[in-house]
Amino acid sequence: METKDTIAAIATGMTNAGIGIIRISGEDAIPVADRIFCAQNHKKLETLEGYRASFGEIRDGDRALDETIALVMRGPKSYTGEDVVELQCHGGAVVLREVLSLVLSAGARPADPGEFTKRAFLNGRMDLAQAESVMDLIQSKNTLALKSSVAQLKGELSKPIRKMRETLIHELARIESALDDPEHYDLTGYDETLLPMLDEISGGIEKLLSTAEEGRRIREGIQTVVIGKPNVGKSSVWNRMLGVDRAIVTDIPGTTRDTLEEDLTIHGIPLHMVDTAGIHDASDLVEQIGIDKAKTMMKDADLILFVMDASKGPEAEDREILSMSGGQKCIVLINKIDLDNPVDKSWIERELSVPWVEISAKTGEGFDTFYHLLEEMFFAGGIDMNDQVILTNLRHKDLLLRAGESLGRAKESILAGMPEDFWTIDLTDAYTALGLILGETPEDDLAEEIFAKFCMGK
Ligand code: GDP
Repeated sequence: METKDTIAAIATGMTNAGIGIIRISGEDAIPVADRIFCAQNHKKLETLEGYRASFGEIRDGDRALDETIALVMRGPKSYTGEDVVELQCHGGAVVLREVLSLVLSAGARPADPGEFTKRAFLNGRMDLAQAESVMDLIQSKNTLALKSSVAQLKGELSKPIRKMRETLIHELARIESALDDPEHYDLTGYDETLLPMLDEISGGIEKLLSTAEEGRRIREGIQTVVIGKPNVGKSSVWNRMLGVDRAIVTDIPGTTRDTLEEDLTIHGIPLHMVDTAGIHDASDLVEQIGIDKAKTMMKDADLILFVMDASKGPEAEDREILSMSGGQKCIVLINKIDLDNPVDKSWIERELSVPWVEISAKTGEGFDTFYHLLEEMFFAGGIDMNDQVILTNLRHKDLLLRAGESLGRAKESILAGMPEDFWTIDLTDAYTALGLILGETPEDDLAEEIFAKFCMGK
């Protein structure tokens, strides 16, 4: 990629809004902006120091396109590390398109998706893990995901990894020196110093990996299925949950017997709700597919919400369904408690080892207790993560696994009394794998692949 040329893009969305920003970055960012921007005080942007703003008009010849604030940021103290001008225009799709095309005719070229952040990475403003967190931050579906990507952007993941790499490279250099110059460097007894160091790094890797499952739940939401016999109130429970703190809703279209999926957050807990057909014996083929799917979903679910009707006692079918729920977290929702004459529920205590809550999807009674139970079950005490690093990125997880395995092999070689050059192969691989997380091991394809997933203007 040619990083010298000047790029531009609409950095805000393409829906009409109060303000829309055109971002220009590169060696000629300021001269390009000066060609189309006329400051009210007639001062050229070129005369401004960094982090100064100027009010004026965007002009195409005699025609004023918009009134604009131009914000000048001079490299290296800018997002990309280059000179950057941000033109704060009015946020209409037409005006933004016109201003952008004027900027392009003034000497910039359209930026590729993610190219601003890619430049920030290439210019050393952030490492690859931080750059990835920028996109995660933008795409955060819930507060937990947002907190975790902000922590990562601040370098909370990069710091421990960098420290591990420093130890590894130091020790690798020591071994290499001894192999090259055995007369001056002696490795006798060195394994006793090295092993505890490797244990410490492995421990750090393990600690990060232990957050990966939580990271998946933050990234994808807690996979939740609502099951129960027909008419117990599954749809009603679902609807009431969606009515609370509704976040992003993705309806996957299909027949009524198909699966619906929706993302929502309840008390800050991200849930990915998967709707299933009522589980009961069915002869109809389409229905059967629904039930098979439901069984599969129960298998893959993190949380099963099993709905029962409070006015009816447990039937053999309920027990059967509950027994299918395996080892996942399950909450039994005893619904319709608003109805008169609910049946005796003492059997629940006797027969169920899973938590249960009495609710009414009709009146909303019991839902607070239900949601508190959810909080206790998931992210217990972890909702306020502060700067805690949670591994949400699968690429990072795979590389940490690889680094951990390489360290394991290195330790085996040491313990088996293998020659030192054997150790270095695996230690180098661990070092490389950790470096790939930060983007410090040159692999052009990797950066290309990551930045291609970015949105325009970032
Ligand atoms: P599903 O087949 O399990 O999805 O059940 P629905 O949500 O469609 O509900 C079946 C029937 O039970 C509907 O007539 C609902 O209005 C009713 N229902 C659902 N929840 C409650 C509740 O908490 N109280 C009462 N009284 N009726 C409910």
